[in-house]
Amino acid sequence: MDIESFIKFCEEKGFFYNSEEIYGGKTGFYDYGSLGKILELKFENLWRNFFLKLYPNFWEIEPSEVMKDVVFKASGHLELFNDPITECKNGHRFRADKLIEETLKIKVEGLSIKEINEIIREKKMLCPICKSELSEVRLFNLMVPAMIGPEQDLFLLLEDYLKSGKIDKEELLESYRRFKENRYFLRPETAQGAYVNFPIEIIINRYKLPLGLAIIGKAYRNEISPRNALIRMREFKQAELQIFFVSNEFDELYERVKDKEINVLLVRDRERGNDFIKVKLRDLEGYLPKFYLYFMYKIQQFYLDVLRIPKDRFRFYELSEKEKAFYNMYHFDVEVYLDSLGWIEVGGIHFRAIKLRREDLERIGDRELREKILEIFGDKEEVIVGYDLWKHLIYSKNTNFIVNINNRKVLPIELELSFGVDRNIFSILWVLYDERSGILKLPPYLAPIEVAVFPLLESKDKHVEKAREIFEELRLSFIVYYDDSGSIGKRYRRQDSIGTPFCITIDERTFEDNTVTIRYRDTKEQIRIKVSDIKEFLKKELNIYFLEDIVRN
Ligand SMILES: [Zn+2]
Repeated sequence: MDIESFIKFCEEKGFFYNSEEIYGGKTGFYDYGSLGKILELKFENLWRNFFLKLYPNFWEIEPSEVMKDVVFKASGHLELFNDPITECKNGHRFRADKLIEETLKIKVEGLSIKEINEIIREKKMLCPICKSELSEVRLFNLMVPAMIGPEQDLFLLLEDYLKSGKIDKEELLESYRRFKENRYFLRPETAQGAYVNFPIEIIINRYKLPLGLAIIGKAYRNEISPRNALIRMREFKQAELQIFFVSNEFDELYERVKDKEINVLLVRDRERGNDFIKVKLRDLEGYLPKFYLYFMYKIQQFYLDVLRIPKDRFRFYELSEKEKAFYNMYHFDVEVYLDSLGWIEVGGIHFRAIKLRREDLERIGDRELREKILEIFGDKEEVIVGYDLWKHLIYSKNTNFIVNINNRKVLPIELELSFGVDRNIFSILWVLYDERSGILKLPPYLAPIEVAVFPLLESKDKHVEKAREIFEELRLSFIVYYDDSGSIGKRYRRQDSIGTPFCITIDERTFEDNTVTIRYRDTKEQIRIKVSDIKEFLKKELNIYFLEDIVRN
């Protein structure tokens, strides 16, 4: 299916649609509709029930979406979170790297501005919309500023000036200084909320490591060219789990799964032209740390066994030295294959860590802080520490980042499991919708409508009456849809297309033996069960207790 028809399908069914459609929509923003919101909630709950259960000390927190600029000075986002931008004289703006990738079909991730400029000049690339020349590429920071506090002053003063032409220069400068020193941003990733709260959460959780802090929530990026509906938006939702630990706490769990295979494309195998190769975890030992391999396997399980993404549509994609995000020591994308779009990044597994040498500490002016940090070295010359914890420790000088574990001082390392909620919703819908049969093959526990109830004949009052009665009985416990319009075949097809796993029909026999038919979506098999057994049947079919076994093994 092509992307336009797929998006149209999702809009018509009420999964998602362009935000503020009646005013022409707004670029890069989408709304979940009545069905999409349930799907999203169910996805989030599955995610929670899976990832937070992987270890006893994993918790979810909800930090603010608005953060002070010092957070992003520390994290490096203010300086480094940029995209290359180019524009034509008519004001059409593009992300230069994506434009090259799309027009020339070559990968340019990791190239410098200079190299990107050279490609544009050499290949004589023009604006794809109006065919005029493209400007020199410059860097554009992707964070969305939030207007809070002093920022308002500055803009009011500017407005005064524009109206009256008069200006108090001192006042303006003072306002500008406050504005510069006190900027706020909407968070570009949820992760920072977990890092800045680590010193608080480690005390609340009584200094126990590993500690996991998950955040599910919105993040904002000033994307230059948003596209493909939920794939690249300016406001999106992430589900991220930050795991703080010392070194080998997950080795025992790894031992249990080391003979399992994962789908992976390593940098060194890219040339071979395969989408991925299947590798046993143990064969990657040494190349990747055991904890990393363990969580890779768990992520794959989540996609294959929980979301039921077909095996050949899932892989881990290794990023090269050049392509990796600046804070990552190991960096694999989690990808799902969507026909006509190709492999799409839906998540990532990031070892956010840096190597610290004793001599690095000489730059730290604060002697007290330096002494404290020296304690984490023990008798070693270098240590590996979590990138973000390190940065926030230096910026905040809050020494609670350093934890005492068995009489040893440590600055924990960080493993981030990161997922784009909307991209996952989009991919699930795309992959599980079978255009040929018109069936959306969602696992029952993900279906927005859990069961539909029909009278066989809408013209027969007693059918309608009984169906309504059963609908009323079920709807307080389940998400139920009642439908009595159109032929029964049409009603089935409508439910198939939105993924409803079961349809209940009331017919003549219902009045003889108090039974109904239940039709299974994928097999079209029909069984008869007693009206009094319907609730038990649904509870069993929709439950997610099977997750226990997947989490454990
Ligand atoms: Zn143009």
